[in-house]
Amino acid sequence: MLRQYELVERVKSYDPDADEALLNRAYVYTVQKHGSQKRASGDPYFSHPVEVAGLMTDLKLDQDTVMTALLHDTVEDTLATIEDIEAKFGPDVAKLVDGVTKLSKLEQMPENDRAAENLRKFFLAMSEDIRVLLVKLADRLHNMRTLHFIKSPDKRRRIARETMDIYAPLAERVGMYEYMREMQLLAFEQLEPEAYATITGRLAQIRSQEGGQVDAIALAIKQALAEAGLNVEVWGREKHPYSIWKKMAERHVSFEQITDIMAFRVLCDSAEDCYRALGVLHTTWQFIPGRYKDYISTPKSNGYRSLHTALIYENSMRMEVQIRTREMHETNEFGLAAHWAYKQGGVRPDGQVGWLRDLIEIVDQSHDAEELLEHTKMAIYQDRIFAFTPKGALHQLPKGATPVDFAFAVHSELGAQAVGAKINGRHMPLRTELHNGDVVEIIKRRHAEPQLSWLGFVVTGKARAAIRRAVRQKEHAEIAAIGQKLFEAIADRLPAKIGKKAIRAAVQRLGFEDEEDLMYAIGSAKLKDREVMEALVPGSAAGVPEPAQQERAISIRGLTPGVGFTLAECCHPVPGDRIVGLRHPGEVVEVHTIDCLELANGIDADWVDLQWGERSHGATGRVRVVLYNRPGTLAEVAGIFAKNHANVMNLEMTQHDDPFHTYEVDLEVQDLAHLTRIVSALRASDAAAEAARL
Ligand code: MN
Repeated sequence: MLRQYELVERVKSYDPDADEALLNRAYVYTVQKHGSQKRASGDPYFSHPVEVAGLMTDLKLDQDTVMTALLHDTVEDTLATIEDIEAKFGPDVAKLVDGVTKLSKLEQMPENDRAAENLRKFFLAMSEDIRVLLVKLADRLHNMRTLHFIKSPDKRRRIARETMDIYAPLAERVGMYEYMREMQLLAFEQLEPEAYATITGRLAQIRSQEGGQVDAIALAIKQALAEAGLNVEVWGREKHPYSIWKKMAERHVSFEQITDIMAFRVLCDSAEDCYRALGVLHTTWQFIPGRYKDYISTPKSNGYRSLHTALIYENSMRMEVQIRTREMHETNEFGLAAHWAYKQGGVRPDGQVGWLRDLIEIVDQSHDAEELLEHTKMAIYQDRIFAFTPKGALHQLPKGATPVDFAFAVHSELGAQAVGAKINGRHMPLRTELHNGDVVEIIKRRHAEPQLSWLGFVVTGKARAAIRRAVRQKEHAEIAAIGQKLFEAIADRLPAKIGKKAIRAAVQRLGFEDEEDLMYAIGSAKLKDREVMEALVPGSAAGVPEPAQQERAISIRGLTPGVGFTLAECCHPVPGDRIVGLRHPGEVVEVHTIDCLELANGIDADWVDLQWGERSHGATGRVRVVLYNRPGTLAEVAGIFAKNHANVMNLEMTQHDDPFHTYEVDLEVQDLAHLTRIVSALRASDAAAEAARL
């Protein structure tokens, strides 16, 4: 345990102006208040706040923070009061101690449906002054270091779980990676003792077999860089068991399949040297594509800066390499705490932290505690990323968000017109997952439209809803365009010329909203030709027979006279197809094509050998046509149907994958030859990628 004078000396070493007497008083106060209380280890309780204060001096934090660490458990666990602390140590320290105490109280609350509210208070307490969080993290780290003294395995596991779920992610969030790693490692040992033992055992085995491998590789890296005239420090380490285990779990692989168990850190003099070092390493060893990350030009939102890459060493061993300046390194490992470190004459940043405010907002907006907890505790902010517009505006998005989500978050119009994206200045596909700190520039085109395929990768509700709406509108417009063509053909059959006025009157008579609705109804075959004629020029349809009645003249040979039949809906036989009948007792005979798959289900029925009657014509054939997704293709196809005198009975978009739209069309045709002719015409058309009878 740190002695009183050692602690004071440590603070004095980086802050010569520290108030020695005040620090001494705080030390004595905590020793007195905790009195004879003991830790699970058997040590006097006050050893704990003293160690936590020591951790604060490692980070070179200011005197108030060190005193807060000394006093952090007095209000919670002894008879001391906040008023007393304020009187003795001033309002600033009192406020900090109060913040830490609030956190401790929230921690002890049982998990229940007020968890969301607790979480909100938790963030609020921290956001008042980020030093509260720093003390709390050090407090937790020391408790984890001494966790093995606690006898109850349940209690140990509960604390470890909480550390894994809440404190390690918090440490990560503020960039205190050293704390994060140690917390995870200690928690992992408790939560997965067997996995921990296996992995540490394996690592020890590798170490004994390959002895000194890490050092040898570090030396090779240093030499390669020295030859290029770079002055660097290189450190190598094995990854810690928890990160190996996490990788095994995430990738569903065994220990043997984990090939990158070593990581190296290269410290350079300047940012420029970092990029040069990267170039040297990439030419000396094979690098693994896709693993290169530039956090120097685009720091993570917690301020982390470094280059990351992965290399293959001697054809088999993968290793991670992080390249950064010495200065970046200090900030990286202790993140926010480094900003708060005592700097002589330096100005400290504002104690309020924007992302904590954002968190409170998220919690505030989740009315449903269940929904919030579904993300399990800290996941709510592990689940968020922050990305910027080129002008620097910040947008908060769920993890997994893509440039399309980003575009819709900025403005729905931007989302609708997006055709491409630049992420950190590089052209990337719209489906690329964004990362924290990415600068996203959306490339737009004026008449571009949202694509249905985007629904396959967007994660925000806003983007999803906007895309669905746009696709529905587009589908509507396309079918209306077909309707327009069909409408022109109908209008041509009328004696009088049809003007705007007649159309408006027809829209009203038929009870549609507008002209497009009318065209949609015609295009989707919801209106018969006669109905349209009648609406345009009342009385004009008289004498125009129903087309179906005129054209359909089916007879089937092989049926007992007087027995009715229907053409099956599954295979849509048309005259010319080889057919067979299925007769279920008491029902009409179903006529199927001979190769219809439904026949397999007709075992109970009698099979009737059938043939088309002479001069049979007129039946519905079903065609699937795959169109290129560009304006006018559907209208062109409608033109083909019209030219071939085939009535569209039904039209349905069944699939919508860029750049194709698939439609199923029911066509009234004369016979097989007619249908075949239409399919051939479709295949010959530029509009269709594929066409086939179903
Ligand atoms: Mn404590």
